[in-house]
Amino acid sequence: MTARKQRTLGIIGGMSWESTQSYYRLINEGIKAELGNLHSADLLIHSVDFAPIGELQAQGAWTEMGSMLANSGERLKAAGAQGLLIATNTMHKIADEVQTATELPLIHIADATADVIQQQGLTNIALLGTQFTMTEDFYKQRLLDAGLQVQVPEAKDRAELHRIIYEELCQGKLLDSSRQYYTQVIQELANEGAGGVILGCTEIGLLINQADSPIAVFDTTAIHAAAAVDFLLDEY
Ligand code: GLU
Repeated sequence: MTARKQRTLGIIGGMSWESTQSYYRLINEGIKAELGNLHSADLLIHSVDFAPIGELQAQGAWTEMGSMLANSGERLKAAGAQGLLIATNTMHKIADEVQTATELPLIHIADATADVIQQQGLTNIALLGTQFTMTEDFYKQRLLDAGLQVQVPEAKDRAELHRIIYEELCQGKLLDSSRQYYTQVIQELANEGAGGVILGCTEIGLLINQADSPIAVFDTTAIHAAAAVDFLLDEY
């Protein structure tokens, strides 16, 4: 039997490492499901120190972060990556800079997510994530361009969801009270007409899953990892 050849994917991770390890597991599980036996994914991972990035995010220093992640992408390309994946929703704010610098295909998390939602025939969708992801165009506009209607929580809830991401989930703290908070926000968005909810931060799936939600859950980490498997097997 001829072995199916894989491409090499470069992952810019560490934002946070709590979710990068989910990517690593999910992509390897996906390759094993496709190829079987001892097969595992052909990956290069540059896992950055998230603390300085978190500070730059708070300062709004996106140009500097664009250069940092472009440099990371160039290092992965030099090491043999044929495509790139940025393992966070928020940092897709500077995805264009990474793609321009490296000229490599980049698996965009919002596009991969919109594809899966469209396949399920849903149009009215809630979006949870960091303040950047919930309120700025770099992410939401791609969902709108795909024909989706996007609802986000009210300002007070957005602030608390954002706090939980940075102060708890990115630091490995999974609290029942925060799970209940997320579930309550999803319930409110469902009451307002959302037919599904995007877990638009790669750590939210560590806290909640389908059983915690009255509407369909779209976990961006799992969706992005599945797109990575397609890329590795040359189907992206
Ligand atoms: N991993 C998170 C996300 O998907 C938040 C951390 C970050 O700012 O990158 O947005």
